[in-house]
Amino acid sequence: MESSGTPNPIASPDPQSPGADAAVPEVATASKAATPDLSNGTLPANQALWQNSLGWQPSETEQAKLQALYQGIIEGNTKLNLTRLTEPTEFWEKHLWDSLRALRPWLLDELALGKAEQTPKIIDIGTGGGFPGIPAAIVFPQAQVTLLDSTRKKMVFLQQLVSEMQLPNVRTVTERAEASGQQEQHRGKYDLALIRAVGPATVCAEYCLPMVRYGGMAVLYRGQWSVEEAEALTEAVHLLGAEVTEVEAFETPLSQGTRHCIYIKKIAGTPDMFPRPVGVPVQSPLP
Ligand code: SAM
Repeated sequence: MESSGTPNPIASPDPQSPGADAAVPEVATASKAATPDLSNGTLPANQALWQNSLGWQPSETEQAKLQALYQGIIEGNTKLNLTRLTEPTEFWEKHLWDSLRALRPWLLDELALGKAEQTPKIIDIGTGGGFPGIPAAIVFPQAQVTLLDSTRKKMVFLQQLVSEMQLPNVRTVTERAEASGQQEQHRGKYDLALIRAVGPATVCAEYCLPMVRYGGMAVLYRGQWSVEEAEALTEAVHLLGAEVTEVEAFETPLSQGTRHCIYIKKIAGTPDMFPRPVGVPVQSPLP
């Protein structure tokens, strides 16, 4: 296991979207006067970059879906504050590559995505503009992907977008993670929980782990990663019935941004008291 970096309580791949205080649903009505019209922009293919960094590259069909996602998000950005990363290369690196890099063990079949003979279930908690959940749904069409966020406008938009993109394996849920984690239809139901730029690591763990099945995994997408964060997370996941199995440090391939992926495995049941009521995980973070 590796850990490095300086203290940084909030890791956000999109510096304008720290998300740590997203307990209050945002009003998604940004003025778009300043947003350039990039709706005809074409994403770079970057096949060699995919191959060299992940040992994987998207098929033509997947590339077309990623392009459709880009165009859909740029269009949605005219009404909703989905992302500030609108330039094609930046979008490719900081949304698409970043979303999929953490999924490398499953892309390369090093880890099984779900239980044999069952549809794998993935949940993206605090999905915002659909990251990392929609790229995951594109590359794992055999999985059912749930996009969860408390901001209704974003979820209405994403439901429409995934329908236009013909991604029948995606569903959206508008809810707080603290509420979903206590509901029968979500608790212990997912093979894989993903969470990027939603808050401090221990808060993310409390949002994710109650919804992961025994033997399933959670992936925390982080920027910098400190020894203090690592120690707090180790204690927190223990309380939640899980263990950190790996911390992977790497850089993004174009701008060399610092990233860490924290892989957590559910090895026991999560006590009923977790997740605690809405707002409590942020106000009184574990451990
Ligand atoms: N994951 C996306 C990404 O990396 O681009 C979006 C990150 S955005 C900064 C944080 C999102 O988390 C917001 O859309 C917010 O509404 C959502 N969020 C924050 N706390 C939440 C909670 N307790 N339950 C559900 N969604 C939450």
